[in-house]
Amino acid sequence: MINIYSPATDFKPIGDQMYALVSTLFPICRSITGNGVRETLSHVQKLLPITVHEVPTGTPVFDWTVPKEWNIKDAYVANSQGERVIDFKKSNLHVLNYSTPVNQKMSLAALRPHLMTLPEHPDWIPYRTSYYQEKWGFCLSQNHLNALLENDKCDEYHVVIDSTLTQGSLTYGEYVIPGESNDEVLISCHTCHPSLCNDNLSGIALATFLARQIEQVKAEGGKLRYTYRFLFIPGTIGSITWLARNQTNAKRIQHGLVVVCVGDAGKFSYKTSRQGDALIDHAAKHVLTSEKESFNLIDFFPYGYDERQYCSPGFNLAVGSLSRSTHGKFPEYHSSGDNLSFVTGAQIAESLEVYLKVIDVLENNHTYINQNPHCEPQLGKRGLYGNVGATVHRPTFEMALLWILNLSDGSHSLLDIAKRAKMPFETIKQAAKALQDSGLLKQA
Ligand code: ZN
Repeated sequence: MINIYSPATDFKPIGDQMYALVSTLFPICRSITGNGVRETLSHVQKLLPITVHEVPTGTPVFDWTVPKEWNIKDAYVANSQGERVIDFKKSNLHVLNYSTPVNQKMSLAALRPHLMTLPEHPDWIPYRTSYYQEKWGFCLSQNHLNALLENDKCDEYHVVIDSTLTQGSLTYGEYVIPGESNDEVLISCHTCHPSLCNDNLSGIALATFLARQIEQVKAEGGKLRYTYRFLFIPGTIGSITWLARNQTNAKRIQHGLVVVCVGDAGKFSYKTSRQGDALIDHAAKHVLTSEKESFNLIDFFPYGYDERQYCSPGFNLAVGSLSRSTHGKFPEYHSSGDNLSFVTGAQIAESLEVYLKVIDVLENNHTYINQNPHCEPQLGKRGLYGNVGATVHRPTFEMALLWILNLSDGSHSLLDIAKRAKMPFETIKQAAKALQDSGLLKQA
């Protein structure tokens, strides 16, 4: 047995480090391609030696084509006095992400169709993109637009977006931790959103530190059952590109999670894989049932994040998504409200603990056979009543022993037993270890 999650771990400093990474990445203007993604991955590389891949523009990937590379230096709308009334340098959300270049003088009326706001939250700048239709635009808060309209004296504005859309490449990061088996666990996060913390920087931070935690367990002598593959990819086109280039590797993926929105204060949510009853689905549901008073269980639907591609019928991988608030379901979603004060290190760390517990289930979910199946074995004479399992309440521990002995007939895994006994997997795991050590239990 291997301890991927250890109750002894102090998650406070890990939460602080994850928040520090989110803060470092926050100012960078990312998109589905370009230097923002490269700069982001170079920061991740300081913590985890990921491999960075570049896939040239124009590469066919299934029904799609790797798009042009987008880069931006500056963007603004200046009035006739030269004052910037909208300034990309104040927030990269001000530019419609993937905007084509523009350098024109125009009236506010002519500019107005290119301005986007979020009227229901008048203080926030919306985040908008136009990846597959070439256009340009600016995003600003409704209050900001109202002030522009009120103060306008039929001025002429200089509208500049200093961006380029060129033949370049799509950039993604990959990191593999080899285990005993070639069977893989996939952890995937997206890297394409600019200054937005919950939807997506929290996912990058969690994936990075999850990999570090698993590495540490391995470095301390833990024998990993599975190989772990971490992907840091632009949403949609990144997972399509990876799958197109890795059709053999994809067949090895036995379990997977898409990491998104793990830093806000919302309740935990689990969106099942398309299969719906895969081990990852049962593991995530059991951990959340045991650990949290309530959580949202969401059946698979073909929208959201990259699970859409992993769960497309040609792959149908057992990939779910474990988050706190979900895609589009929190008011701050895709707006400047999703900022550094919307997420905390403690909340990302709490999410990391849940991820580690789910992986702990995957790693340790073996099936055993009771070596003394004719009536209950006498536990007292084997020292199994008493002080063993000191981290678990003793009567609970003894019940766990009885459940395992009863159900270990070669057809129930430890997770099956934990669910039937309504006990945390950790309790069942500790009890199974004690029974194995006493010779009463053997792996099937
Ligand atoms: Zn998003």
